[in-house]
Amino acid sequence: IKIAVLKEHLAGERRVAMIPSLQARIAKLGARLSLRSGAGLEAGFSDTSYEAADIASSDAELLANAQVVLAVHAPSAEIVASMQPGSLLIGLLYLEQTPELLEQLCQRRITAYAVERIPRVSRAQAMDALSSQATLVGYLAPLLGALELPRILPMMTTAVGSLRAARVLVMGLGVAGLQALATARRLGAVTEGYDVRPETKEQAQSVGARFIETGVDARGEGGYARALTAEEQAATHAALTEHIAQADLIITTANVPGRAAPRLIDRSQIDRMKVGSVIVDLAAESGGNCEGTVPGQTIQVGPAKIVAPMDLISRLAQHASELYAKNLAAILDLVLVDGAVKLDFADELIAGAVVTHDGNIVSPPHGPAPA
Ligand code: NAD
Repeated sequence: IKIAVLKEHLAGERRVAMIPSLQARIAKLGARLSLRSGAGLEAGFSDTSYEAADIASSDAELLANAQVVLAVHAPSAEIVASMQPGSLLIGLLYLEQTPELLEQLCQRRITAYAVERIPRVSRAQAMDALSSQATLVGYLAPLLGALELPRILPMMTTAVGSLRAARVLVMGLGVAGLQALATARRLGAVTEGYDVRPETKEQAQSVGARFIETGVDARGEGGYARALTAEEQAATHAALTEHIAQADLIITTANVPGRAAPRLIDRSQIDRMKVGSVIVDLAAESGGNCEGTVPGQTIQVGPAKIVAPMDLISRLAQHASELYAKNLAAILDLVLVDGAVKLDFADELIAGAVVTHDGNIVSPPHGPAPA
């Protein structure tokens, strides 16, 4: 069986869906890798490092007879046009955002496996690319914030006196938020965290942070949060204002599935922040958690700087590709049986993630909300 690895087509995307060190694992599944020339280069993997793979100099050559296609993002219409009918496409596809591509995949009878839709159950942990990528983004956020601050994060004793440790507040303690808390703490900051799921209190404390109690419990389905009512929003606003005012660096990561990102910080709260303080808004892609956030830009709003990067994961392309490729290898373990693609639709890890199959939309495409 031939597995093709695409060269990503989106501007700024540096990740690749498979890495050289997993070639032996793929071979054990009875498959042979084919790579579009240069696909791994921006993630630090040259063509020659994939010594067991065939290197294709065109997409047509890459996709000829490929039964499985691995990607980071949904491919372009041109690529889909070259894919084999009946083949299996695996990637972070978010097809609800591209109805034309969804239609084209149906027409070409391609099976689309949307990695972002895999149910987040224990058995799927090794396949959970949302978590693997969020962990890395969460790590990078405090570093980015630290570079924007006019002060250092740790306490420091010098010959002319001591510098106080910075206060870092992380809002939204999912996978990225907890990693941000842990990293800020390792850098010497005094850390605080807040979330609307009560179970995050213990998780925040386990990485050395203080948890801010707001009295709100907004546990939703599948381990995610639900949107807050107007009363709950007022309660959290009141409980958080003072913490926001005292923070040197704030990292926001809050998301609610299927919706625009919740507004956690408004302009009146920003105006009470310290001069020179910094907010890193990791929810920029789904609209931002902060009033005034401009996705992809760093802007000054009153006393604070709001940093809202959209390319964090690609800045860590090497490790992001490594973890993502391992997630895909675990998915290949599930879908390849005796050297051929076999999909067991009785398995929730198949039924939950396959969007198109055999010319039909087999489950309504959904996923995290577009902005
Ligand atoms: P996410 O990116 O959807 O959201 C980030 C965080 O924002 C969440 O913790 C959420 O509670 C929080 N949030 C939403 N609205 C908020 C508000 N108004 N104020 C403050 N915080 C708010 O979440 P994620 O990181 O993808 O995952 C969330 C959770 O899913 C995890 O922490 C975990 O419990 C669960 N999960 C389970 C598994 C598994 O294998 N069982 C794997 C991954 C994640």
